Amino acid sequence: MENNFDLGIIGGGPAGYTAALHAASLGQKVVLFEKENVGGVCLNKGCIPTKSILHASELYNRIQNCADCGISVEGISLDYSKVIERKNSTVEKLRKGLELALKNSKVNVVKAEALLQDSTHIVAEGNVYVCDKILYATGASPRVVKGLEFDHEFLISSDDILNMEKLPQSILIIGSGAIGIEWARIMSNFGVETTVVELASHLLPLADIEVSKRVERIFKSKKIKFYTETSVEKIEGSNVILSNGETLTPEKVLVAVGRVPNSVEKIDGVEYLGDVAGEIQLAHFAIKQSLSVVKDIAFKKEFTPSVVYGSPEIAWVGKREQDLEEGTYQKSQLLISALGKAHCDNETEGFIKILAQEGKIVGVHIVSAEASSLVQQVLIAMQNDITVDKLKEVCFAHPTYSEGIFDALFKL
Ligand SMILES: Cc1cc2nc3c(=O)[nH]c(=O)nc-3n(C[C@H](O)[C@H](O)[C@H](O)COP(=O)(O)OP(=O)(O)OC[C@H]3O[C@@H](n4cnc5c(N)ncnc54)[C@H](O)[C@@H]3O)c2cc1C
Repeated sequence: MENNFDLGIIGGGPAGYTAALHAASLGQKVVLFEKENVGGVCLNKGCIPTKSILHASELYNRIQNCADCGISVEGISLDYSKVIERKNSTVEKLRKGLELALKNSKVNVVKAEALLQDSTHIVAEGNVYVCDKILYATGASPRVVKGLEFDHEFLISSDDILNMEKLPQSILIIGSGAIGIEWARIMSNFGVETTVVELASHLLPLADIEVSKRVERIFKSKKIKFYTETSVEKIEGSNVILSNGETLTPEKVLVAVGRVPNSVEKIDGVEYLGDVAGEIQLAHFAIKQSLSVVKDIAFKKEFTPSVVYGSPEIAWVGKREQDLEEGTYQKSQLLISALGKAHCDNETEGFIKILAQEGKIVGVHIVSAEASSLVQQVLIAMQNDITVDKLKEVCFAHPTYSEGIFDALFKL
């Protein structure tokens, strides 16, 4: 094989494969190195498998709670191995699609660990690849905390939990970021006794304070136990001793306290993308970063939305209320229970909160069914400097959740 390329990419996750596909579409000769599976963490160990399991857990929960719709279901049973089987086949289907897209785009995929030599040379399996430009997108791994090192049986990571063959009776989740919150919801939907321990003063500490408080309320209503301003002091056998003196004895402990970029010594002239760059660790951020590098598509990172999945969804973008100085902003908050569609769907929990300054939206924080899509509607306005008054000219369909955005505009 001719080992000269226009573009060499190490890492086949969202950052790497997006760059590869788009560079190839521009006619570039591309080589992509992936040591495990294309799709990276997102497709194989992150976004997709968790959402597949989450879907099953929500279905299970809904079926048990549909009597008020006149539906009674008897003899419900859960075969968790089938949940995992379906998750695996979802991942496989999507991975095959991605492999085909890369093949059809004539991207040379090398299934091997690659070593960056300098800004134009990559070594893999003893071969040297000369590339005019190199992108480095090797991702991140679960953070290991002293005293809470994974044994992959009792102390497990977000990778281990995906392959658990049967559900535990109880689980303790350390950390209440997006991964911790999503797994707490999944486990609780499946009837697992779930407890969350968070060091910060509120759950989901990166969210707007009212969102965090609402999540806490929802957790209480779902009997998900949680501790804030609390840490795990030590583990003694199967006893987990908390900083408040309590001892818990869960069957499993999921340590979800963040992810660290896969260590790398940066080389001038090489572009670092996605999780390894150590900025925002989200798949859509990695994708946008790649597009800005390969296709020069403008990208403002402050307009990266955050979504936490589950019921109801949680999504936000822009400034949080706690970051704004009192008296410098307008706020409107609309309860989801004000919407007809929410009542039809039995999804009345949550709110839409809009923060504005000088007639423009600077932040939106949503706890609602479909929040992941709703946030995009406001984001398009924010990013394009569309004023609140201009947005009021848009016709929002009825009955929808997006009407909530429309109604909230009139409360500013
Ligand atoms: C449980 C979980 C749930 C998540 N859910 C979401 C979500 O819902 N939404 C969202 O936006 N984000 C989510 N994320 C985060 C998302 O997965 C990452 O932000 C995203 O995968 C980052 O993409 P990347 O391309 O930078 O890196 P990765 O996806 O990590 O890909 C890096 C790839 O590089 C390969 N690699 C590493 N070193 C080498 C080497 N030397 N040679 C060859 N290959 C190498 C790896 O095998 C890997 O495939 C989740 C993460 C986890 C863990």
